Amino acid sequence: MLNLLLFGPPGSGKGTQSELLAEHYGLEHISTGDLLREEVAKGTELSQDIEALISVGKLVPDHLILDLLFKHINQMDGKKGLILDGFPRTYHQAEELVKEFNARQWPIPLLVALDVEEEELLERLLERGKVSGRSDDHEETIRGRFKVYHEQSEPVIQFFKESHSPMIEIDGVGAIDEVTANLIRGIDQFIKESNN
Ligand code: ATP
Ligand code: MG
Repeated sequence: MLNLLLFGPPGSGKGTQSELLAEHYGLEHISTGDLLREEVAKGTELSQDIEALISVGKLVPDHLILDLLFKHINQMDGKKGLILDGFPRTYHQAEELVKEFNARQWPIPLLVALDVEEEELLERLLERGKVSGRSDDHEETIRGRFKVYHEQSEPVIQFFKESHSPMIEIDGVGAIDEVTANLIRGIDQFIKESNN
């Protein structure tokens, strides 16, 4: 069973690359951003609170996303590996993820960090904002999301270092298929090493 975590700043291509990797390795793709947007679309009690946070670029509370994610995972059938896109996004989420995987006796997931500089990210997200219709794809909120990423999400890397968990960093700049090829090369290397 192969489990991957696609990590990186907003606009680094997590969604796009996750779908391609899910296809390549036969994994189940779960985007926590999509799970939340589905929740908002359902118009449940939580919808307004979630949308209020997303639209200003803040993270939703850890307990909420953990609950939503593991409910979703429990409903899935089969023992395909997972590719999580946008999770973990805080130190605490990383801790809980590892606990949960250990409890299920699943292999520790590989953290795959996409590296893209901020200027390029801003450009991509402004471009995406023209068509995405997403409340968080405009300049003010994008800047806020970068800040949240540095303050709350980058510590995830720290957690993986401290706990000696597997992690690779991949250059996320270039054509989509070039980045995919780099990702596959890095992940295949990890698979090879873990089989030795
Ligand atoms: P990308 O463009 O690389 O796909 P993104 O940062 O633009 O990533 P999503 O992953 O779709 O966007 O997340 C959108 C919003 O959903 C976040 O800004 C945050 O408010 C919320 N969110 C998503 N995942 C989490 C999480 N794991 N914990 C808390 N909030 C989350
Ligand atoms: Mg996304």
